[in-house]
Amino acid sequence: MNILEKDFFFDSAHFLPNVPLDHKCRNIHGHTYKLTVGIKGKLTKKEKWIIDFAEIKKFVNPFIETLDHKFLNSIPGLENPTAEVIAQYAFIKIKKNIPNLYFVRIEETSTSRFTYYENS
Ligand SMILES: [Zn+2]
Repeated sequence: MNILEKDFFFDSAHFLPNVPLDHKCRNIHGHTYKLTVGIKGKLTKKEKWIIDFAEIKKFVNPFIETLDHKFLNSIPGLENPTAEVIAQYAFIKIKKNIPNLYFVRIEETSTSRFTYYENS
């Protein structure tokens, strides 16, 4: 399978409302999130690519704008914004414009990430 990946970044505040009161993620804090989209497909005959990187940007940037410098918990669907929930939310939104979307990965830090695959 051929998978093309492109990264995007956004800064957002959040807290996790369903963890114990003394859990550090219960406090409002921020992350510079890294969102990676993975797109599957065959290479086009002429260009020899799956999709133009610029085309991905055109579709994903407007979505990133809805999260950047926002308080995620106040966005419908992200009331409990774990990386898992954000990735699934992003997958559903981005899939509408990129039908060959295969996964969305959300990284909260360079060592902590979650990947949501289609049909999971
Ligand atoms: Zn956090």
